[in-house]
Amino acid sequence: MKSLNIIGGGLSGLGLANGLLSAGIPVTVTEAGHYPRHRVCGEFLTSLREDTLEGLGITECFSESVRHQSTAWYRRGKKIRSYKLPEPAIGISRYTLDKCMVSVIREKGGRVIEGVREPISPKEGTLFATGRIPTHKGKIGLKGHWSSLQTEEDLELHLGKGAYVGLSAVEEGFVNVCGLFSRIAQGEFPCPVERFYATLKLHDLEHLTGRLESGQYRELSFCSVTGLDYSRKSNLGIGDHNRQIPPFTGNGMTIALESAQRIMPYAVKYAMEELDWKGFQDKSQSTLHNHYKQRYLQARLAHPFLLNPVLQRFTAIIARAGFLPFKTLYHLTHS
Ligand SMILES: Cc1cc2nc3c(=O)[nH]c(=O)nc-3n(C[C@H](O)[C@H](O)[C@H](O)COP(=O)(O)OP(=O)(O)OC[C@H]3O[C@@H](n4cnc5c(N)ncnc54)[C@H](O)[C@@H]3O)c2cc1C
Repeated sequence: MKSLNIIGGGLSGLGLANGLLSAGIPVTVTEAGHYPRHRVCGEFLTSLREDTLEGLGITECFSESVRHQSTAWYRRGKKIRSYKLPEPAIGISRYTLDKCMVSVIREKGGRVIEGVREPISPKEGTLFATGRIPTHKGKIGLKGHWSSLQTEEDLELHLGKGAYVGLSAVEEGFVNVCGLFSRIAQGEFPCPVERFYATLKLHDLEHLTGRLESGQYRELSFCSVTGLDYSRKSNLGIGDHNRQIPPFTGNGMTIALESAQRIMPYAVKYAMEELDWKGFQDKSQSTLHNHYKQRYLQARLAHPFLLNPVLQRFTAIIARAGFLPFKTLYHLTHS
């Protein structure tokens, strides 16, 4: 039986490794960073099915997660409207989730090599799950955890000037505060959180600063990522490396795990020598393309309504008037 090497130990790489090991296929994951660590992510999972978790053998990693039922939207501090989510969502931090998925891989006899950045050069038996392809332009993602912070609904979505920020609970009483911004505050700051506050202010979201200051910041939870460009695609590998979907108008965490489940049968066939490497790649890519092409398109069309000031205003007006088809938009962008 052939083994597989997975480069990148985020959700898609760890998900696939877990699934393959459950099917008896030997796997090595090589990850540039170390576990556990905080990641820039809204940590809000929608439309994730039980059978995906069971198929990948990672159900236990969601034992500490919380369930979400509702959302409230705000624009520049003023409430727009509350909505009930069409289906419950899941809240769990990447710190806990990635850590658990790595330990399950090791328990199943798989290898996870940490702290090694591999070159992205195609090789038989090596699959890329290395996340976004960074660019010099693109958006900036910032996130941190706070405790002693109440949210009005399970997910608060705050629209700012060229930015949006989500607040939602994860395990152990923490609230994840994560946003997508057009730029980051420049200058010297005594600590990263002060830069976060200054960036909120820069995007007309300073009303959030007071709330965050009244809560308790979780040490070392602040992280940032730059060069988020949602128009790039590689059509190779899985997860964000294949293609990124903008947060809130798409569910990248679920797509990362689902993609692992969808390509698993071909990876198993490759390992059993029933399919050659090219056959595996062709089948995987056409499966992912067929399943998600519509979703990427809808997400890209919907995303400007959260970021562009004129479209944001339009969104707020029709939502306040009760004409926003929230349920339909949710289904178009999440399932
Ligand atoms: C601001 C923001 C908010 C988001 N909020 C949500 C949300 O609420 N819900 C949701 O569903 N999705 C959300 N997403 C999207 C979600 O985070 C991603 O879609 C998901 O993490 C993709 O998983 P992945 O495994 O493909 O990539 P990643 O999780 O990014 O993992 C890639 C891994 O590869 C490693 N790596 C990279 N290069 C190399 C190399 N050369 N060698 C070795 N290792 C390497 C990296 O260190 C990383 O660990 C959000 C994204 C952003 C930016």
